[in-house]
Amino acid sequence: MQEEKLVVLDGRTYERLPYDGADEPCPGCGAEFGQLHVAGCGYERCPTCDGYLVTCMQMEPDSHTKHD
Ligand SMILES: [Zn+2]
Ligand SMILES: [Zn+2]
Repeated sequence: MQEEKLVVLDGRTYERLPYDGADEPCPGCGAEFGQLHVAGCGYERCPTCDGYLVTCMQMEPDSHTKHD
């Protein structure tokens, strides 16, 4: 199993956020509370803002900085 715990955004490296829904597994990838999402899961949160990581990773660095 290979889990990437870090993500690069805007040229900086951040720790990925685990799934934090306590009641049921992630609807996108099935991760349970405290587990990392499967790579590319649409429900993973961005470590630097309150958006979704898949969306943030597609943003240009400048637009993401303005996002928060
Ligand atoms: Zn997920
Ligand atoms: Zn973001």
